[in-house]
Parts: sequence; C-alpha cells; structure tokens
Amino acid sequence: MFYLHTLPIMKKEISIKTKCSPPTASIKREIFQSGALLALIVMAVFGFFLSSIFYYSEISKAKAVINRTNYAVALIIDGYFSEIMNTLKVLEENQDIREAMVLDEEARQRILDGYRSIRKANKNITFIYSGYENGLMLINDYTPPEGFDPTTRPWYRAAMAIKPETSIGLPYQEIKTNEWLVSTSRALRKSDGVYSGVVAIDCSMNKIVHLIAQHDEYGTDFSFVMDRSGEIIMHPDQSLLGKSLPEMKEAFQLDSKGDFTFRVDKVEYFAHYSRISSTGWAVVTVVEKREIVRPIISQVLFLIGLTCAIAVFLGLVQSTLLSRRLSRPLIELGRKIKASIAGDELDADKYVYPNNEIGIMARELGQLAEKELNAKTRALQASEEIYKTILMASPDDITIADLSGRIIMVSEAAHRIFGYGPEEGPGMSVMDFIAPEDHERARGNIVKMLQGNYPGPNEYRAIRKDGSCLDIEVNNSLIRDRQGNPVRMVLIVRDITSRKKTEQQVQELVRQLEIERDLAQRNSLTDSLTGLSNRRFFDNALRTEFLRHKRSGSQLSLIMLDVDHFKKYNDHYGHLAGDDCLLQIANALKAVVKRPPDIVARYGGEEFVVILPETDLQGAAILAGRIGEAVLGLARLHPTSDTSEFVTISLGIATAENHVLTDGAQLVALADQALYQAKKDGRNRYKVLTTSI
Ligand code: GH3
Ligand code: MG
Ligand code: MG
Repeated sequence: MFYLHTLPIMKKEISIKTKCSPPTASIKREIFQSGALLALIVMAVFGFFLSSIFYYSEISKAKAVINRTNYAVALIIDGYFSEIMNTLKVLEENQDIREAMVLDEEARQRILDGYRSIRKANKNITFIYSGYENGLMLINDYTPPEGFDPTTRPWYRAAMAIKPETSIGLPYQEIKTNEWLVSTSRALRKSDGVYSGVVAIDCSMNKIVHLIAQHDEYGTDFSFVMDRSGEIIMHPDQSLLGKSLPEMKEAFQLDSKGDFTFRVDKVEYFAHYSRISSTGWAVVTVVEKREIVRPIISQVLFLIGLTCAIAVFLGLVQSTLLSRRLSRPLIELGRKIKASIAGDELDADKYVYPNNEIGIMARELGQLAEKELNAKTRALQASEEIYKTILMASPDDITIADLSGRIIMVSEAAHRIFGYGPEEGPGMSVMDFIAPEDHERARGNIVKMLQGNYPGPNEYRAIRKDGSCLDIEVNNSLIRDRQGNPVRMVLIVRDITSRKKTEQQVQELVRQLEIERDLAQRNSLTDSLTGLSNRRFFDNALRTEFLRHKRSGSQLSLIMLDVDHFKKYNDHYGHLAGDDCLLQIANALKAVVKRPPDIVARYGGEEFVVILPETDLQGAAILAGRIGEAVLGLARLHPTSDTSEFVTISLGIATAENHVLTDGAQLVALADQALYQAKKDGRNRYKVLTTSI
C-alpha cells in the first residue's frame, strides 16, 4: 500500500507559483477616475464661463440699479432745491424784507407771517428767516438765543461771500438743538444798493437723507450729496459731512456722471455719481460690492457642487459601462485559470466574452491556458508516478518534514523500520522517532543544516512504536523554493542496527587483540620468573642511559650481582626452591632500589644488574651494601654454602665518568670484573672498579 500524499503537495506548489500580489488598481476605478476627471474639466470650463456670465450680469444689474436710484435721488434733490431757490429769489425781491431793518414792528410781523405761510405750504422747509447786519433776526416759530448775532452764522457768511448768487446746501448745526440743517441763503440789498442782510431757508438734513437714502434692490445701498468742491454736504452718516472722497474728486471734474469704486475700512463700494445741473452738486449712490458678489459666489458654489455631482455620475456611468466591456473579460479569464489550477469545474464557462478585442483575446488566452495546464498536469502526474516508484523501491525510509520538524509524509519503509501505520507518520514530529538522549544532538544537526553547515550523515538511537530501540543513520537535505529559501526537510533514514552489532563485535575483537598484543609486548621486555625487566630491556636501557651520560657528562654507575654457590643451593633444595629463592632476591632488590630513574633487571641465570644514572661510586657502593644486607636479611638457609649459613650475594660495582668509556658494554665488563674480584675475595661482599685515572 502506498500512502505518500504527494499529489496535494504538487497542487499546492502550482498554486503558490501562480499566486501573485493583489492588484493595487482596478480598471473600473481607473475608468471612473479618468471619466470623472474629464467630465470635471469640461464642467469646470463650462462652469467658468457660466460664472463669468453670472458675474457680469450681476455687476450690470447692480450698475443699472444704482444708476436708477442715483437718477431718482438727483431728481428729488434737484426739484427740492430748485423750489427752495425760487422761493428765496422771490423773498429777496421783496422790498419789505430788504428794508426790514427800518420797518416798524407791525411790518416785521407781516414778514414773519409770510415766512410762516411759505413754510406751511412747503413741508420740506424747517426754517425760513432773514438776518441783518444790525442784529435783527426775523424767523418763523423760533426764538434766537440771547445775544444772537446773525452776521456770525455760516448761512449769513456764505450768502455774503457768494452774493449776488445763492449759497446752496450749506450744512450746519442748529445752535440750540444741534440738529443738522441744510441752509440755502441769499444776500439782501437795500434800495441804496448796500448788502445789509441775508434771507435763508433751512431744511432738515434728516429729511433730505431720508429722501435720498431709501433702499431699493440692495440692503447696503445709499446715496449722499457732494458740492462742487467735492465735499460731502448730505450723508446718512453725519460725521462724514464736510469730508471728501479722493477717488471721486478727479472723475467729478471731468464728467457729469460716471462709475467708480472706493474702499472704506476694508469694505469695497461700487458707486455711481451724477451732477445736478441746478446746484452743480453731485449725487453719489453706492452699494457694497460684496452684496453684489455674494449671490454670484453662492451661485458659483452651487454650480461647482452640481459640476462635481455630474462628473461623479458621468464617471460612474462610464466606468460601469466600459468595465463590463474591458475588465470583466480579464477578470473572468483569471477566474478560469485559477479554477483550472485548482481542478474545479469551470463555471466561468457560463460567461460570454464580449465580441471586442479584449473579449476575443481573453477567450483565446483562457483556451490556451487550459490546454497548457492540462499538459502540465499530465506531465506532473507522470513525474509523480516515477517519484512514487522510486520511493516504494527504497529500502530506507524517506521522510519529508517542515522546518519545525513536523512530518508531512513518510515512505513505506517507515512501517518496516519504526512500526508506524500508513496514516500515523504525518503530523508527528521527527523527534518522536529519536531517543531522548539524542534529541539535543539531532536538533543541533538540523540547525547546522539550515545554516548550511550540514555535518553529513548522523547516527542516532531511535525508538520504534513498540518502544524497542534501534540504531539509525539519517541523511538530511533541504527542499528550497525559487528564491533559494528552505521550505522542507528531506530525511533518509536507514536501519543500521545489524551493522552496528557487527561493528561492536569487530570492536570487541580488536580490543582483545590489543590486550594480547600489549601482553606480548610486555612479556618481551619482562622476566617471567621475577617480573623484573629482562636482558633485552636492560640492554636498551643501558644504551639510552650511556648516551645521556655521554651527553651530560654525569656519572653512571652499574651494579652487577650474583648469588653465591647457587648451584649447590639448587642441588640441595631442588630447582623450584631455587626459582623461589631467585624471586625473593628480586623482590628484595625492588624494595631497596626505589629511585625512579634506577633500573633493576635480571641479567641472566642467578645474576642481576642495577643501572644507577647520575650516581657516583660512593652512592653505588652504599646501595650495593644495602642490597647485600637485604638479601642476607631474607635469612634463606643455605646449608651447603661455603660462605654463610644463609643465601648471600656478591656484587661488582663500576662507575663511568670523565668520558673514559665509549659504550655500555665496557661498563658491564668493568662491573663483571669487579664481581669476579668479589667472588675471588671470598664472596658475600661488593667490589668497585672505576674508570677514573
Ligand atoms: P658461585 O658462587 O661461584 O657463583 O657458584 P655457583 O654455583 O653459584 O656458580 P655456577 O655458575 O657454577 O652455578 C650457577 C647455577 O645457577 C647453575 C644453575 O643451576 C643455577 N641456575 C641458573 N639459573 C637458574 C634458575 O633460573 N633457576 C634455578 N633454580 N637455578 C638456576
Ligand atoms: Mg653465576
Ligand atoms: Mg653464582
């Protein structure tokens, strides 16, 4: 049974490859944006012209309104003052009024009665009066204050200054009430031809202003009057009386009427003036410019809002219509390709592509993509079959895991090696198969592999499903994506339990052989009876020590010793007892000669040697004495000895110094000679021979 889940993995790979970042723009939106922008531009141009027309029509309308108002006001003022002036002329021609200074009280009362009746007939007149140089003042319904001098009053002076003409429209404040009045006055000439008085008519400024300041179309329009010199003589704001408008002055000199603009306290006014022919004054009618412009702004704002709304609407309509024809075929193509990759039913086929270039292209691309995908899928299926066959044939387990060690699939061999069933492997961790004592090492090796320092095949203790242990060898490698980033681990697991067993057996065999080799080596240098170094070892050691003696010039001593009458001992006690005696003597030697560099060896038969590096003759003699005593101290009975009742030894001592000897053999010969001498001298003693001269 095969249970690799390879097909889904391959599908996933394809879907990853074809996955692309989501679009940051949509055709529908772009069509909408461009359509709306175009509509906006068209509407903006159209709106601009429309606004301009609005603007100029409003300005023209305003001009017409203030022209009309101005004309009406000029007419009123003209009519008003024409009547006043005519009245004044009539009064001036009156003989009584001229000569009032010399008339009696009764005649003066008649004049006053006349004044009263004129005033009654003309509601616009406030006062009608005449003043004279002698201080006489004739005035209707008014009592001048005490000490009143008419000749000091502005109306009197103005009339005298302009005589014989009429002084018109002089604004001044009434002395008692401070009410603003507009005075028109004319000098009076007596019959002798001397000017000795003035007749005047006052009108209330408020009344005139009321007449001329009536609002018509606008809330901010009003009129005022300027005299010939450009000074304001009638104005709703009485604080401006007597002041002048610089913007007006020049125009006023040139034309009898015209338009101009001026600014007071940041408020811009649009104005029209016209001259009154009878008085020479100018009537100015103004309106605040912002009042004219305000409706234009609201109309333009409305127009902008309407333009934007229409632009959005047109953009939406255009984008909806066009996207159906342009982007929808491409979207449907994308869906079709995705569905093909996922192996789904192609419900996108229900869509009918539009019969335009994009629609035809999308339909053909869709067919091409479908064909290609089918071919690719067939190729993938074929390669998957090969893949399956290889994995099935592998005696090793092939496991694929993600980078965290989570198993994605295992091959069939996993069942044989670890005992896990077909569906059990995926989802487990690779660590579940490895013995706990090897977890850390296994993790370390995975990290090394991810870092690119793969240490090669690793061996671990592993655990089967039934809990039994086995040895495995694991070969790791990585599956990488197109960018070269690792995405999966492949672990090839081999059961090496039997190989390990064989290896252990071989190792055990090798160990045994090594032990035996060591023993043989030791035996070749050791005397088997006494355990001391043997003759071969002695020869090598002496050669080495002699060379050192030659190099350093230090003294080198050698003791050679021989058991006395040992033949007899053997003869008396037997050969085995002789061997035991030799062993005891050897142990006594080991006990006495303890300095590390000193070497004790069995020279042969019942003869022993002691090499004493860096030891002079005296030192060697002391040691020889101790050895002799130690052997005697064994108190081993030797009844057949001619020397002692116990076993004794004779010792020969030789010392190499001053570079006299050329090799170790000469030193041995000297020691042997000394030993011979000791034997000769009666045994159980030591003799010395030196090389010194
Ligand atoms: P001397 O005092 O002159 O040395 O007399 P000796 O008998 O000791 O000397 P000789 O050389 O005549 O005899 C040496 C004897 O040592 C002969 C031999 O039987 C005995 N011998 C040598 N090697 C061994 C050994 O390994 N075991 C035993 N038991 N005897 C040995
Ligand atoms: Mg001997
Ligand atoms: Mg002997």
